[in-house]
Amino acid sequence: MNYEAFFESELAKLREEGRYRVFAELERIAGSFPRAKRYSEDGVDAVTVWCSNDYLGMGQSRVVLDAMHAALDQCGAGAGGTRNISGTNHHHVLLERELADLHGKEAALLFTSGYVSNWAALGTLCEKIPNCIVLSDAGNHASMIEGIRHSRAERHLFRHNDPEHLDALLRDMDPSRPKLVAFESVYSMDGDIAPIAEICDVAEAHGAMTYLDEVHAVGMYGPRGGGVAEREGLMDRLTVIEGTLGKAIGVMGGYIAASTALCDFVRSFASGFIFTTALPPAIAAGARASIEHLKVSGAERARHQERVAKVRRRLANLGIPTMDNPSHIIPVMVGDPKKCKMISDWLMQNHGIYVQPINYPTVPKGTERLRITPTPLHSDEDIEHLVQALSEIWSHCELARKAAAA
Ligand SMILES: *Cc1c(COP(=O)(O)O)cnc(C)c1O
Repeated sequence: MNYEAFFESELAKLREEGRYRVFAELERIAGSFPRAKRYSEDGVDAVTVWCSNDYLGMGQSRVVLDAMHAALDQCGAGAGGTRNISGTNHHHVLLERELADLHGKEAALLFTSGYVSNWAALGTLCEKIPNCIVLSDAGNHASMIEGIRHSRAERHLFRHNDPEHLDALLRDMDPSRPKLVAFESVYSMDGDIAPIAEICDVAEAHGAMTYLDEVHAVGMYGPRGGGVAEREGLMDRLTVIEGTLGKAIGVMGGYIAASTALCDFVRSFASGFIFTTALPPAIAAGARASIEHLKVSGAERARHQERVAKVRRRLANLGIPTMDNPSHIIPVMVGDPKKCKMISDWLMQNHGIYVQPINYPTVPKGTERLRITPTPLHSDEDIEHLVQALSEIWSHCELARKAAAA
């Protein structure tokens, strides 16, 4: 086989379909978020980032940076081993305690990313619980899907956010078999939120465990930033809450929070936990400082929600079509992969505005979009600049507008 020719032809297909991924090469500027430098063939430009998952700007927070600097000087760069062989640092243990407390659980277990936490925890639970059946929301993230697939457990999809369909599937199953229901709170591309209470009702009625991915909600919802389940008083009804330290927390890493026995079980059996170097202590210290801060400070959350509402209102005024949802994620709908990429390039080149185009397979074909994520640090001028630029390109491309909201 001509391997190189194979790689090239597969990549050519992606380009042809308008879904070849081009990364913007950024240099984030601490203290100036959402401003960044962008490197390209034409040199270095200033851009305003409108698609970051550093939802609250905690990645540059003084509290977080100070904790990281201190831990770096105290412990050095790396953890020096896997958790089992010399790599468990005091900072990891403190962070796990903090996470257990955040979600009102007995224990928590850290992983090197949210992806790995889903992959390893679901993979282990669904494989090792004998005869387990998995019920997975049709909109679940790739990391959950891969974990479930890896377990080789019997799995069934229930229609997205549809507890009645979940109930119908469960009713037909052998009541004596163990079951796990896996779903998310805030779905990252449509920004819709699961009916967590209803899903828990159904799961409990059928004796199923529940596994909730709160990656896009941790830090941002609930009085202490514990997520949507905290906001709705439901944390104790979930068997496992999974989250990331890489989005609103502003650093890196992932975790599950659950009972002592469940966390100990995953700790003891998950290959993706055991056979990998622990997170650097400075990362753990930074994440803990961020969580401690967000537990007691509601200012970032309040400002975040206010900024999101403002961007939505301004886009609606101008008739730019967005997908309606109750979260902080604003999908601006384009519906064509090439136009989506073209608009994104145009915003970058002409306005220094960076919004990554989101195309298939991340979203279904025909629903290509610009996924806008306002943060507490976007100013009124930033917002006006964004919406006017979008309005201009909407006219230029003769894209459909919605009647301005009455
Ligand atoms: C981003 C994401 C993850 C993975 O988290 P990382 O820490 O970025 O690896 C897991 N689940 C969902 C729903 C996500 O969007």
